[in-house]
Amino acid sequence: MYVGLCLPYTWSDFPMLHVVFLFFNIVLWICLFHASTTDPGYLPRNVPEYDMAIKQLVICSDKTVGQNLLCTLCHTCRLVKPLRSKHCRVCNRCVNVFDHHCPYIYNCVGYKNRGSFALFTTCVSIVLAISFKLSIHTVNNYLEWNWLYKFYVLLMGFYAFSAFGLFVLAIYNAAINVTTNEGLAFKKYAYMQDKFGRVKRPFDQGVVNNLLDFFHLKNLSEEKSLDQITVT
Ligand SMILES: [Zn+2]
Ligand SMILES: [Zn+2]
Repeated sequence: MYVGLCLPYTWSDFPMLHVVFLFFNIVLWICLFHASTTDPGYLPRNVPEYDMAIKQLVICSDKTVGQNLLCTLCHTCRLVKPLRSKHCRVCNRCVNVFDHHCPYIYNCVGYKNRGSFALFTTCVSIVLAISFKLSIHTVNNYLEWNWLYKFYVLLMGFYAFSAFGLFVLAIYNAAINVTTNEGLAFKKYAYMQDKFGRVKRPFDQGVVNNLLDFFHLKNLSEEKSLDQITVT
């Protein structure tokens, strides 16, 4: 509808809006390509640390310590899982700083592609919002409303609203340094709870630092080692 109707009818009405639309469309496809084809942060499999941990487990007499150690192991990948990593059942690999597995990009979102995924959701929101506005303007001023146009505009509005929700969630999580997985399942992770069982944000370094770290413009993990994080 954009190429066939909106573009020829509204180019002269909103030339700059079309330029913005095309710009974000190009960025969108670049981000989509990067997010879907980049290694999200797969952890190496069959590491010697796993065998050492298994041996430790066998000689471990303390049941609680043994259970804690067991929780950190992935027997499929045969590795010791670092904090914030998770085994993805779809990819069948452990992913560093696992966020979620996205069916739309058919890839996991993790440490290495979370920035391009967040930019992708941003571009999709902008492109769909512009499409929504141009569609309504085109039908209102140059065409007549019929069921097909109504259906199309409603669908466009629904997608634009959903994409905006994903964009807000991605940026909010980046700003507080919490992954989608940690936010949804914080009760599964001791490091995400305080002594009263309430959610806490152990990696939060302030909005600016969190965003710089999220887009790999600054490495916070070097400043705050995982040992410094209080695990309750
Ligand atoms: Zn695994
Ligand atoms: Zn996955």
